[in-house]
Amino acid sequence: MGVNDGTVTGYAKILDNGSDGDRWNLVILSEGYLASQMTSFHLHALDIVNIFTTTPPFDGLSSAINIHRVDIESNEEGADDPTSCSGGTGTAVDTFLDASFCGDPSRRDLLTVDQDLAVDTAFDKVINTHAVLVLVNSSIYGGSGGNKASVGVAVSSLHPDAFNIALHELGHSAFGLADEYDNNSGAQNHHPGPEPSQGNVTLVDTYPAIKWNVLIDPTTPMPTKKNGNCSKSDTSASPVPAGTVGAFEGAAYYHCGVYRGEFNCKMRNLKEPFCAVCDDIINAALFPFFP
Ligand SMILES: [Zn+2]
Repeated sequence: MGVNDGTVTGYAKILDNGSDGDRWNLVILSEGYLASQMTSFHLHALDIVNIFTTTPPFDGLSSAINIHRVDIESNEEGADDPTSCSGGTGTAVDTFLDASFCGDPSRRDLLTVDQDLAVDTAFDKVINTHAVLVLVNSSIYGGSGGNKASVGVAVSSLHPDAFNIALHELGHSAFGLADEYDNNSGAQNHHPGPEPSQGNVTLVDTYPAIKWNVLIDPTTPMPTKKNGNCSKSDTSASPVPAGTVGAFEGAAYYHCGVYRGEFNCKMRNLKEPFCAVCDDIINAALFPFFP
C-alpha cells in the first residue's frame, strides 16, 4: 500500500489571486480516485473553490488565497474500512495515500491518510503550501485534521456533510482552533487547566480579561452561560440571541470550567458557521497574505 499504489498525473492552479509567494496556498489532493474518475475529482475540487469564495469568513478573505489541485490516480478506489470499527465493511484497497476509516477503534468516522506523503506530494507541486486538503473518494462520513512539519493536513470524504468536515478540520490544522464541543464520548467534567493555547477556548470568564474581549459588548452578562450540571454537556437553549459573543461554558471536551465565545460555532457543530471568535483568528492568520 502507498506510493506504489498510484501516480501523480496532473496539477492545476484553480483559484489564482497572484504569485504563490504572496498568498496563502491551499493544495487539494485526490485520494482513492481511479484514472477514469479524475473528471469528477476536478469538479469536487471546484466545489471546494466555490465554498472558499462564498462561505464566511473565507468569502471576504479569498483574495488572499490561492487554491491548487494535484491529481493523484490510485490503483483502486475508495478507502480502507476496517471491521475493527462498528459498521466497518472490511474494504481494503490499494490507494496512494493509504486512506483509512477507523483511525481509532471507537471511531469509524476518523478518516486518516499518510500525512507525510500528503505533505511531500503537495510541496512537490507548490513550494509555498500552507495547508493541504485530501479529498477521499468515498461517500462514507469521515474526516480528520493534523499537523506535520507545521503544515496542516485536513482529510474529508465525499459525504454530503464532507465539506463541513473539511472546513472544521482546516480550522484545526491550518488555523490552530480547538474543538468547542463537550459532548464526545470521552468528555470529562471539569477542565483541570492550564489555560488552553488555542485562541477560541479559555478558562477565563470575566470581561475584559477574556482573550476575545474586543468582540464582546460590555453589557453582555459574563459568564454568559454556565452549565448547571457538570456531569454532562449542557443542552439547554441559549439565554442570549444567536451571534452574541461572551463566555459559554463547555468546550474542548470538558463540560465545565472552560468557555467558548458563542453558543454555537463550526468548531462545536459541523453544520454551523464559524463563530466571530474563530472568524477573527482566521482573519488574523490570512491578513499577511492580502494583496
Ligand atoms: Zn468558534
